[in-house]
Amino acid sequence: MARAFTEDRLVIATHNPGKLREIRDLLEPHGVAVGSAADLGLPEPEETGDSFRANALLKARAAAAASGLPALADDSGLAVDALGGAPGIHSARWAGPEKDFTRAMERVWDLVHESENRHAHFVCALALAWPGGDSEVFEGRVDGTLVWPPLGDKGFGYDPMFQPEGYFITFGEMAPNQKHRISHRAHAFEQLVAACFRGRRR
Ligand code: IMP
Repeated sequence: MARAFTEDRLVIATHNPGKLREIRDLLEPHGVAVGSAADLGLPEPEETGDSFRANALLKARAAAAASGLPALADDSGLAVDALGGAPGIHSARWAGPEKDFTRAMERVWDLVHESENRHAHFVCALALAWPGGDSEVFEGRVDGTLVWPPLGDKGFGYDPMFQPEGYFITFGEMAPNQKHRISHRAHAFEQLVAACFRGRRR
């Protein structure tokens, strides 16, 4: 059985403002005070893992050890079928040091636009780690289609070129509360809540 989260404070182990905003929104109903790794001046560890789970754990453990508080980390990315799952765990790196996602989306589109298969999915691994060494990891995904040109400015990263299955708008065009019901992050979060936030006030 997963360890229950009984504390009142949590560090969100990310320096990515888009993820931070979404994780704060998702945590909001659960009565947890949150700080971010950036607010606490925690360093960003190098993502040396070979999977979303491994990288999420590495980031959560580093933040828990450095802050002395439980830490929640997200490792996520876009996996494109026609590219054998790329950019995958390298999704952030495809945007280069300038974090230019317009360029990253163009790079994806250049590689897939001649393929008939435009299917892709987002994956999110969420890891919760405690300073004593315990940890739990949960993974969610959402399937969809890549579209061009990129549309909408509501999300972050690859959102403007990703149209989730069953919708005719991209994540970039979708209201945050709608994305929070269907996204890879939302699915991972549902599992985290069911396993670790049992009985917390809502
Ligand atoms: P990392 O988890 O810090 O390695 O970065 C994951 C990267 O995947 C982000 O910088 C985004 O580019 C992309 N990504 C992850 N989740 C989403 C999402 O919900 N929408 C759009 N892009 C995402």
